[in-house]
Amino acid sequence: MWRRLLPQPRWLPRLAVMRPHRVVVGCFAAVLLLTLVVALRDLYLVRERELRNRQHSLELRALGVEAVLDAERRRLAYVGSYAERLFDIQASADAVAADAAMQQAYAQRNAPVWQMKLPLEDPPLIGVGPAQLTGLNSFERRDADLMADLYVGRMISQLLGLGVRSDHIQGSALFISRNGFFVAYPPVDPAMAARMLQRFDSVPYYRSQTPELNPGREIYWAPLYADFQSKRRMTTLSVPIYAGRQFRGVVAIDVEQTRLDELLRAASEPGAVRYMMNVHGDVLAVGDEPVRTVRKWPDAVPGNWRDHVPADLFTRGSGIMQRDGDYLLFHRAPQSPWVLIDVVPARELYESMLARMSRPLLVIWALLPFLLWITLKVVTQLFDHYIALGEKLQELAQQDPLTGLSNRRRMRELAQYALERQRREGQPLALLMIDIDFFKKVNDRWGHASGDKVLVQLARTLRATMRSVDLPARMGGEEFAVLLPNTSLAEAAQSAERLRGAIAACAVEADPEAGVEASVEAGVEASDRVIRFTISVGVAEAPADVPPDTPVTLDGLAAIADRRLYDAKTHGRNRVVSDDSLHAAAVPQLQAKA
Ligand code: GH3
Ligand code: MG
Ligand code: MG
Repeated sequence: MWRRLLPQPRWLPRLAVMRPHRVVVGCFAAVLLLTLVVALRDLYLVRERELRNRQHSLELRALGVEAVLDAERRRLAYVGSYAERLFDIQASADAVAADAAMQQAYAQRNAPVWQMKLPLEDPPLIGVGPAQLTGLNSFERRDADLMADLYVGRMISQLLGLGVRSDHIQGSALFISRNGFFVAYPPVDPAMAARMLQRFDSVPYYRSQTPELNPGREIYWAPLYADFQSKRRMTTLSVPIYAGRQFRGVVAIDVEQTRLDELLRAASEPGAVRYMMNVHGDVLAVGDEPVRTVRKWPDAVPGNWRDHVPADLFTRGSGIMQRDGDYLLFHRAPQSPWVLIDVVPARELYESMLARMSRPLLVIWALLPFLLWITLKVVTQLFDHYIALGEKLQELAQQDPLTGLSNRRRMRELAQYALERQRREGQPLALLMIDIDFFKKVNDRWGHASGDKVLVQLARTLRATMRSVDLPARMGGEEFAVLLPNTSLAEAAQSAERLRGAIAACAVEADPEAGVEASVEAGVEASDRVIRFTISVGVAEAPADVPPDTPVTLDGLAAIADRRLYDAKTHGRNRVVSDDSLHAAAVPQLQAKA
């Protein structure tokens, strides 16, 4: 592996050099993961902040609503106590009996409808006769009390009339006498009298103020309802009026839903539905315009929250609940008989979070994985390119470009490895040294290009005749070698002989460019364009039974094979020599000459 050859800094793990892709992918994955973790954490924090903001705003709203309602209650309490004071005063005032308008009204008391007009723009007292009161259980005509009730009604009308003149009073206000008449601001048509009284007999803000139902004489706050005439949604605050221990009527103030809507509607918290609820789950107000129908817990809230009881919220006072990603925020101003509730669907929450987050940052976040992906792609391609390049270079460094066989350097490496293995496993190993006979002449006659074709043909024949475990190589020029693992000298000689025969039998087409000399030289048989050539082979063996301390090297083995190759050359060429008999024969001759 060429990567083993790369310089390796001490601090860089080996893996980083061997598997750079994985390291880069790992690092990028880590960066992405970290980014994701930070993003999720930020999202969590933003959500917490968003919820806290909403809860805070809910608290502020609750305070605002309480302040407004408190003002209404004070007003009501004031009118109520004023009325009761009037009863006290009237009890001892003879002047009252002399009032002409009251006398006239008293005289008409049994008419189906009667009224007592008042000066200025004060709303009139409107009443019905006893016949019209039959069947209305909360009303009772008592003539003995009527003068006093008329007096109180007249005085309250003055108070309500102030509202007409100064526009001080918002919404409607009412005094309903148990004696079968009422004063309403703004004034109503007297023809409506009977219907109005029937209505009062059925509505809780009057009915539930009787001593039996409200013994503590508390201010009562009616749940949200739609007005039977105007169809407008409203709630009503009412207080019972007593003369001493005797229940005499009710003062009521309508609070139009639109007033509360303004207070409840939260422009800064889009998507939330805001409810105002009493401890029984009656919706007192709804902060979103489209909800027209009057509802009660649990119908008023989405499914998630139905198994919570409003009383729980009252006990807890304030908090945030989460279920299936949706949120319910609630707050009860201290001592208030109601609780404000925001129901926030998860989607709305995340949308408003997104709306609050910085756009460029979101874009960068969205782009980050994409950018990382692109970078990773580029880096990976670059690595792939360099690895391919490295492998190519390595191949070039080990391969002979002409024949595609291993070169001398590669042969040395492989031989080293094969020799070590041979020694370890005790197997024989053989080496062939091959040289083309009279190659110079091939070049001379058919040109260098044809010589190259002969070299390529030799390589091809080598590959075809040798086993796949054998290692053929071009050692340089027209010299070749073959390393034969697990092969004895005799077997190697046989292989060499087979090779020699194959070469002698094959013919190479001369290069078309080559100019052909007509002569036929010794050793090279040729027709005009066909080259025939032979090889000489020297065979050497590293035997299996060499003692372990005897070093067997490629050079040593090659020297023996070369010597035998030389013997083959000197003894006629086109032959295989696998022993030193020819050499030995020559040596004594040389020695003899010497
Ligand atoms: P011998 O039988 O004694 O080996 O005779 P020879 O002519 O083959 O002699 P020698 O081995 O000395 O000749 C080597 C020649 O091989 C010299 C050179 O011109 C030729 N040669 C070496 N490399 C190449 C090559 O890559 N292509 C070609 N075409 N010729 C080469
Ligand atoms: Mg040679
Ligand atoms: Mg040669």
